Amino acid sequence: MAATKTLALVLAKQDYRDTSLLVDFYTREHGKVKGIVKGIRDGHQRYGSTLEPFSLNEILFYKRKRGGDLHQVTQVELVDLFPAVREDLERLSYASYFIELIDELTETEEADPEIFELVIALLEFLATGASAKRAARIFEIKFFELLGLMPEIRSCVICRSEFPDPAFFSVRQGGIYCRPCALKAQGAMGRIGDEAAMVASTGVGIPVSRGTINFLEHARRSPVKDLYRVKVAQEVGAELEKVLRRFVDFHLQRKLNSLIFLEKMGFD
Ligand SMILES: [Zn+2]
Repeated sequence: MAATKTLALVLAKQDYRDTSLLVDFYTREHGKVKGIVKGIRDGHQRYGSTLEPFSLNEILFYKRKRGGDLHQVTQVELVDLFPAVREDLERLSYASYFIELIDELTETEEADPEIFELVIALLEFLATGASAKRAARIFEIKFFELLGLMPEIRSCVICRSEFPDPAFFSVRQGGIYCRPCALKAQGAMGRIGDEAAMVASTGVGIPVSRGTINFLEHARRSPVKDLYRVKVAQEVGAELEKVLRRFVDFHLQRKLNSLIFLEKMGFD
């Protein structure tokens, strides 16, 4: 068994037996790692962290060669608890959303240091008191881009015309339609009616403005730090939220607890 030391963000934890914890970590070098931390709840404080969700820790674990993907974690030291994120309910809710998304959409032990750097950068951004919604939109776009799920949105999926305006974003098609192609697609699906019906229908797409397409394009190609100060019109912010929410719903099997909470609190 080889001992491995790594930076690890806590995605989720649950009590195990009387004094232990089962923890899902997202590590820089090994991706998602499932660990068991024995005796951490026995009151002796021999570990340097209580492994709160989205806390950053340095951990030492022993990689098992055989017998499943649960590894024994023998040391944990707290690196950053992100207290400024924790003290505000909205920021805390969004941070919970980030880690729940990562937990749902990454495979165990598939390393992607860029995803690790992304979530740490956005937690630090949240900690500055920045708009939690802005942090969420940046996280969603960059995270989907890193997972290879972000569609090409420069041109219509059918006729390839560039930057159509208006454009209709279809999550199912993984791209945008220009207006003529959207209307055609709508007809082909046996729908009658106007563009409002198209909006309401699940098949064809959500109308998105040029500003929204531009932001999505800019965000996917730019370093995270360049996005913190980009001004986003309220209307663009609302469209981005709608499009990206559809995206999340489409790629997940279930509704995230953090999203249910965000909606309930009116933070979304
Ligand atoms: Zn078209």
